Amino acid sequence: MAVATEMMDKLKILAEGAKYDVSCSSSGSFRRNKDGIGNAASCGICHTWTSDGRCVSLLKVLMTNSCIFDCAYCVNRRSNDVQRVLLTPAEVAELTIGFYRRNYIEGLFLSTGVVRSPDYTMELLIEAVRTLREQYRFNGYIHLKLVPGADPLLVQQAGLLADRVSVNLELPTREGLALLAPDKSRDAVIGPMRQVNSLITINRAERKESRKVARFAPAGQSTQLIVGATKETDRQIVTLSEQLYQRMELKRVYYSAFIPVVADTRLPALPNSPLRREHRLYQADWLLRYYGFSAQELLDEERPNLETDLDPKTGWALRHLELFPVEINGADYEVLLRIPGIGVRSAQRIVRARRQGHLSMDDLAKLGVVLKRARYFITARGRYAGECAIDSTLLRSRLLETPAKKGAAQLELPFSRPQASDEAISLISGEL
Ligand code: SF4
Repeated sequence: MAVATEMMDKLKILAEGAKYDVSCSSSGSFRRNKDGIGNAASCGICHTWTSDGRCVSLLKVLMTNSCIFDCAYCVNRRSNDVQRVLLTPAEVAELTIGFYRRNYIEGLFLSTGVVRSPDYTMELLIEAVRTLREQYRFNGYIHLKLVPGADPLLVQQAGLLADRVSVNLELPTREGLALLAPDKSRDAVIGPMRQVNSLITINRAERKESRKVARFAPAGQSTQLIVGATKETDRQIVTLSEQLYQRMELKRVYYSAFIPVVADTRLPALPNSPLRREHRLYQADWLLRYYGFSAQELLDEERPNLETDLDPKTGWALRHLELFPVEINGADYEVLLRIPGIGVRSAQRIVRARRQGHLSMDDLAKLGVVLKRARYFITARGRYAGECAIDSTLLRSRLLETPAKKGAAQLELPFSRPQASDEAISLISGEL
């Protein structure tokens, strides 16, 4: 596709401004192109997952990197001396449809800085999406960012045009927001979230009455939190996420390890971004959404932060050894999910396979259960294969001796978990 030089220049500048936004699933890669095809680090196309597990490529673009706000952590803040550009709504629509027709993308992830006012910016975003939907009759996936402080009427219009909407919470507490993003108020972020949640609920009920009612944000809403720029504990973050899932029915909370991209005395001076912490939070988040854990079970006042050397499920199991070993042939599905090393898919396979007869350790291995960790917490036909006493210190040292294979903590998707909802499943997770 021949993209005009002027447009190409704009896109390069906007890609720089967008690359720290993790609210879609393929961000955060640092692999660069060395004499090969593609470039994971330079942005442009990201991916998300539909309810049936299909991977969808999205054009990820900022409408503008201009911003009237001055968030301390943001490369696009008004006090930062960078070149500013703005795509017009017509340009966003034209670009998207051009990429779509050439089969480069299946949808659009549209974000923005705040130009002139939240309402003005929201109107630009809506116009771009409306042009795509009405003029180009585009029915592909659209994820649209909501601008904090925008008029509720505009939020409603956005939800009627986009599949998913998101408004970024950015910092977990009111105090954190006041310190680092003084132009944004917590209410300006939570307000649209609440409104979207309520409109989705109303829309669901109306569509039960009549299928002719237009769908409102059918892929739900998500948000993003920056981790490590302020002093919140993991307990505060995980508890907040739990509340967002339970009270606002959010589809996803994305965690973004703070990366110092601009100098500001309000920001912590970090030698490295806490990526391990981000990873542990994603694991804890997965436990909340798919494994039946509560925030309170994972973290409490005495232990406000997740362990860095052990995943949160193994940490929980070592603190509850009175519940182990679990006999694999008799345990409920919910109990199987609590065994370290047994993820959603393994638990489903065990439940299915044991209908045919009692399973042995060998059977479990054949089913693909990762016995390296699980063997310390289970018996199969009464046999324990941990080869050591079930003692917290001993097990901890054994488990730390056997680090997971490179990449083993990465994704396994529970495409067909029991009572599957219509939720889009995202990449950043792990079978725990
Ligand atoms: S509102 Fe804050 S985080 Fe968003 S683009 Fe502007 S300065 Fe950056």
